[in-house]
Amino acid sequence: MKKNLRNHGLNNGCNPVGIPKATPATGKNRVAPVDNIYCPNCGCKELMQVEVAVENRMLNGGTGVGYYLGCPACPWASPMMAIAMQQKDSSEEAEA
Ligand SMILES: [Zn+2]
Repeated sequence: MKKNLRNHGLNNGCNPVGIPKATPATGKNRVAPVDNIYCPNCGCKELMQVEVAVENRMLNGGTGVGYYLGCPACPWASPMMAIAMQQKDSSEEAEA
């Protein structure tokens, strides 16, 4: 069976919604507490940290924010870590 490289570690109950925001996973914004992270599939050393709103009934309130690492050079993505969080409504987003 072929392994799906970009399933984000999610089961069918968790759906990314909205537009993902990607930032370099190295440097001051890095999410991984190590210096030399690289793609386990292709070896690329420029992984991106991706943040995306998710819906999952397992999360308190049903919505949250998911974080994962993604490779810009191949389909690999790490499992997602989802944090329960009330989604902002449009009036709160306008202030940001
Ligand atoms: Zn890769």
